[in-house]
Amino acid sequence: MAVRFLIIGGGPAGNTAATHAARLGADVTIVEREIIGGAAHLWDCIPSKTMIATGGAMAFGRRSSGMGLEEMRPEVDVEALTDRIEDIKDHLSQSTTNLLRSQGVRLIAGSARFMSAHSVSVTTSDNGVEVIEFDAVLIATGSRPRIPQWVTPDGERILTTRDCYPPKVFPSSVCIIGSGVTGVEFVHMFQSFGAKVSLVVSRQQVLPGKDPEVAAVLEDDFLRRGVSLLKGARAQSISREGDEVVVKCDDGRQVRSSHAVLTIGSVPNSDGLDLDAAGVHMDGGGYIPINHHCVTNVEHIYAAGDVSGKLPLSSVASMQGRKVAEHVMGLHTRDHRHLDYDKAASAIFTEPEIADVGLAEAEAFAHGRKIRVTKVPFSATPKALINNDARGFVKIISDPATGEVLGGSIVGRHAAELISVIALAVTANLRVTDIVESLLVHPALAEALAEAAE
Ligand SMILES: Cc1cc2nc3c(=O)[nH]c(=O)nc-3n(C[C@H](O)[C@H](O)[C@H](O)COP(=O)(O)OP(=O)(O)OC[C@H]3O[C@@H](n4cnc5c(N)ncnc54)[C@H](O)[C@@H]3O)c2cc1C
Repeated sequence: MAVRFLIIGGGPAGNTAATHAARLGADVTIVEREIIGGAAHLWDCIPSKTMIATGGAMAFGRRSSGMGLEEMRPEVDVEALTDRIEDIKDHLSQSTTNLLRSQGVRLIAGSARFMSAHSVSVTTSDNGVEVIEFDAVLIATGSRPRIPQWVTPDGERILTTRDCYPPKVFPSSVCIIGSGVTGVEFVHMFQSFGAKVSLVVSRQQVLPGKDPEVAAVLEDDFLRRGVSLLKGARAQSISREGDEVVVKCDDGRQVRSSHAVLTIGSVPNSDGLDLDAAGVHMDGGGYIPINHHCVTNVEHIYAAGDVSGKLPLSSVASMQGRKVAEHVMGLHTRDHRHLDYDKAASAIFTEPEIADVGLAEAEAFAHGRKIRVTKVPFSATPKALINNDARGFVKIISDPATGEVLGGSIVGRHAAELISVIALAVTANLRVTDIVESLLVHPALAEALAEAAE
């Protein structure tokens, strides 16, 4: 009899595990309470990047005079943008649903909670109740925005990221609280649409933990665009005064704007699952600890994606889902590569884009590791000049003894695409000469990679 594999949550972790396990011969069921595609499709990756793409097109229009064109001054059509976001979301969710159905995966619309280590109870969307028994189960329930006790979002002017796609009106001015990846993307997004933006940065650098040189490029760009940075400040209260929102910080500074957006991290969706009934442990933050096969403390119960407390990235969630499917079907004993979270590429969709992978320069210094760092600015790359955008650089970190590529960062146009080359080199243990000796296209931004690898 086929393995009965149940998946709770149809986001990137859940739906990738489902398609892969079904392909390998499992009898797969997914329970999803909102939308196949998960928060990634509904609120996070897809809507935010769709809005950023429109903002980018507007910014490109404003820069067009440098390309031998008359300057364009595009205006945003909120209704058309909303339709576009909905169309893309629907298209992606529908194509994932079709793929799952074509592979024989059973989809149940509803909310699941554990009854025991081998069964869940599902409250279906039509208020029915169904009990499902399984041989293996994957908890892939994702996360939601963290809301601290000192603020109550109203969905109108005091917003979480989930209220922004797009807001009913575009803010004329907005204060973003939190300067991690999501925070800086929101700064970029709203500024591109013409809002006056302030950013509350609790440390002395935006993107804490990132390469300071990379963060500095972004800060310079924000300052040039008139963004006000409140460094070393922590928001303490957010209140409404008529049509204004007032953000008060612990150092006495205040920001008045038409809207405020909280981007201060997320909390896992592990509450409401009755994990105790299955004997599954959580850590103090509600995340579900896993081993390198994504197995929880219970042998046949897996967790993947944001709820597992590893890197909160859609790409990582999908890869975990894939690995879970292989483990459930017993493939991990053959030709199997563990997921190495240190080798995950990530990108920040600001302007310029920022992307990195593998070992960071600061991390190598902190561990006293000898490295070779080579850096090439895009201003030396013909395609960057042709594109009228020569901002940024490529940095490659390699082992001075063997030439092995250990990591890299890219700041500049299409950084999120270009980082794939370095990510492949890092995963496949390639050497810098492998990049140098690749016959690349000319003129192309990728030529900067070969230069940096030289
Ligand atoms: C604003 C923003 C932008 C982002 N942009 C990017 C990006 O560009 N690139 C990137 O890689 N990552 C991005 N991320 C992160 C990415 O969205 C998450 O890492 C990813 O969605 C995690 O996938 P997941 O499968 O764990 O969970 P989710 O996508 O959250 O899916 C979990 C699903 O489980 C369902 N569920 C929960 N509980 C139950 C239950 N009891 N029963 C049934 N169903 C349940 C939920 O409805 C949900 O659909 C972004 C995050 C944010 C906040």
